[in-house]
Amino acid sequence: MAKNKVMFQLNFKEMIKETSDVYSFVFTIPEDLDWIPGQHGIFRFTDKNIEGKDFRIFSFASIKEENMMLFTTRIVDEPSDFKKHLLTLKTGDIMTVDGAIGKFKIDDYDKTICIMAGGIGITPIRAFLKDLDSRAVNPKLLKVLYSDDRGEFAYEEFLKEVNEKYSGLDIEFISDRNIFSYQIDEFAKEKSNDSLYYIAGTPGMNAFITEKLLGLGIEKDFIKTDVFLGYE
Ligand SMILES: Cc1cc2nc3c(=O)[nH]c(=O)nc-3n(C[C@H](O)[C@H](O)[C@H](O)COP(=O)(O)OP(=O)(O)OC[C@H]3O[C@@H](n4cnc5c(N)ncnc54)[C@H](O)[C@@H]3O)c2cc1C
Repeated sequence: MAKNKVMFQLNFKEMIKETSDVYSFVFTIPEDLDWIPGQHGIFRFTDKNIEGKDFRIFSFASIKEENMMLFTTRIVDEPSDFKKHLLTLKTGDIMTVDGAIGKFKIDDYDKTICIMAGGIGITPIRAFLKDLDSRAVNPKLLKVLYSDDRGEFAYEEFLKEVNEKYSGLDIEFISDRNIFSYQIDEFAKEKSNDSLYYIAGTPGMNAFITEKLLGLGIEKDFIKTDVFLGYE
């Protein structure tokens, strides 16, 4: 079981540009830091004065078997001071993380599952798929609807690769909100309560999709949400 709310030191290794404004931050990890795919942590700098809130919650986008901690975030043109400082990280710099926290996890790939990820909401989904791939689990049916309005998809190469490998996995890259909405409708009408529904994205998107699913008769207990508070 992953440890709860313990502070760990992370050693910064490198930054990877995923899309025009999405960046991944890679850290080496201490042996005793453990987490379940889908969980998140509270990240802090150790030696920088941050204007405003001096911590941020990010999902753990990697799995322990990768031997690294990865979080990924969108950094807009005029970002918060915290995110400005992320861009100045140098190899060997230390951050800390409190974690692991959260109940957004997949217990059973023998169930039909529909994941709906909006933009940066894909971060915990990467961890799910890395986990599935590391254990070579072919899911019963794992539908991933990954929507980004600008058609820029983080982790695209990995997602396409893993999608090819497993017949039970079906990842769709969607760049039109109406199509995203339509696909959700179609899936929920077809599978109804024979599926679980995972939603990851902004509070607005989560609320919208949850309402839609409830309206289509999906049981509340079958809907799991990871709400990225802090995004509008
Ligand atoms: C459980 C959980 C998991 C999370 N996981 C992640 C994760 O993996 N990755 C991640 O990035 N965040 C994640 N978040 C959200 C994260 O904690 C921050 O709240 C979020 O990244 C916003 O960061 P910021 O406050 O530094 O603002 P910034 O992103 O720097 O934004 C600065 C300001 O610009 C606004 N803004 C941002 N984008 C736009 C835009 N496109 N157009 C107009 N205005 C904009 C913001 O609302 C804000 O007011 C998670 C939150 C929770 C609760």
